[in-house]
Amino acid sequence: MTQYFTLPEPGITLHAGPLQPSRLTVSFATAPEKAAPGQPGKSLGDVLFLRNADGSPALTVSLGKSEKLRADSLRQAGGALAKWLSAHNVTDAQIDAEALAQLGVADATRALVEGLLLGAFRFERYKSGAEAVAAPVVTISGDGVAEIIATAEKLASAVNLARDWGHEPANVINPVSLAERVRELGAQNGLKVTVIDDKALEEMGAGAIHAVGKGSKTPARLILVEYPGQDANATPVALVGKAITFDTGGYSLKDSTNILGMKYDKCGAMAVIGSVLAAAKLGLKTRVVGVIAAAENMVSGEAYRPDDILTTLSGKTVEIISTDAEGRLVLADALTYTARTFQPRAMVDFATLTGACVVALGKVRAGYMANDEALADALFAAGEAAHERLWRLPLDEEYEAQIQGDDGDIKNSGGREGGAIIGGIFLQNFVQPVVPWAHIDIAGVASSSKDAPYTPKGATGFGVRLAVEYLRSLE
Ligand code: MN
Ligand code: ZN
Repeated sequence: MTQYFTLPEPGITLHAGPLQPSRLTVSFATAPEKAAPGQPGKSLGDVLFLRNADGSPALTVSLGKSEKLRADSLRQAGGALAKWLSAHNVTDAQIDAEALAQLGVADATRALVEGLLLGAFRFERYKSGAEAVAAPVVTISGDGVAEIIATAEKLASAVNLARDWGHEPANVINPVSLAERVRELGAQNGLKVTVIDDKALEEMGAGAIHAVGKGSKTPARLILVEYPGQDANATPVALVGKAITFDTGGYSLKDSTNILGMKYDKCGAMAVIGSVLAAAKLGLKTRVVGVIAAAENMVSGEAYRPDDILTTLSGKTVEIISTDAEGRLVLADALTYTARTFQPRAMVDFATLTGACVVALGKVRAGYMANDEALADALFAAGEAAHERLWRLPLDEEYEAQIQGDDGDIKNSGGREGGAIIGGIFLQNFVQPVVPWAHIDIAGVASSSKDAPYTPKGATGFGVRLAVEYLRSLE
């Protein structure tokens, strides 16, 4: 069997076990009011190296100011520690989890361990000379630590897979090779995978996703990845992801600055793949179906054009204003397909949809819209808990006028005003039959231009921890 991918090497190894006198011991402390020798620095993640009276080495990682202490401080401290250990070639360290008393040992340990595993992520597959450096081994002592580590490893491996695939360039991941990867991932993890190819999409009338994929040598795929949960016949939660494996903008071509980084335009789907994988690894109870709308938005004699009128799977026609507003087109058919096929209890789409969302919310919170209050509240709460935060935008019907079609039913772009909202307004047309639905615009948060303690530069994997937290809230 062809192997389509290899998993990234874990950047750190965690063990549960007793403390040893010879090992480098790491402790965590909030910053003192005034800087003092031997005390941790003010900034969260500052690392202080000391020798104890007996000469044994010790590290103290700052948790930042005590009034700002929260679970995410531990996650960030863990990420900073993972980076410090590998930067300093430390192979062996230990942590006494019982000393993490400030926030409750279990919650603090969970966040710390997540931070260590997420902060150690690296994408170095294509770097010659980056030959296997020994990953640091961190031993953590305390009650229940083994289970906390095991759970966090399952979650972090799914986030790191989403990041790893997010980083892969478009000459490696295209709609066709993505489908093969998902098949292989499904076979390895007991997930049912179904791939609907471009011909079948055209035949079923999914004219929007088909048109977006037409300009590429590797045409569109709709990829289903299903986790049965406790009951394979239960009404599922559906997660729908945008996978534009590369977005040139099409004939509404992006310029040489804005085209860079467009391999990350598939990160919505990477969040979905990671979430379904995490659900399986963690053995969550809820049935989850992932639906990935994959296409490569290219320029060619076959490519779709501005002014084209497409007939979507729903039967509604869409007038193309901009071929660069392609994400909503592939999602339109994916949402219709998902609502019709599964009538899910909730349908949540993840997409790097609009630059307007980045303008509105920056790179801190993702924007989201929902047609259902309970779903909106549950997602918001999950985002706060996982520290993958959301901010809700409206779906007032007055916005609909902005995309009223001239020669077709609707337009795929409504100009600059309220651009993030218009993306949601457009998509809402395709939630048929109507099911509880939310659209999460991750354009600002899916990738980062700089390292943060546990979200390295590049693909962040945003959405996986949020979705897992949401799915857990349903149990
Ligand atoms: Mn685009
Ligand atoms: Zn796009």
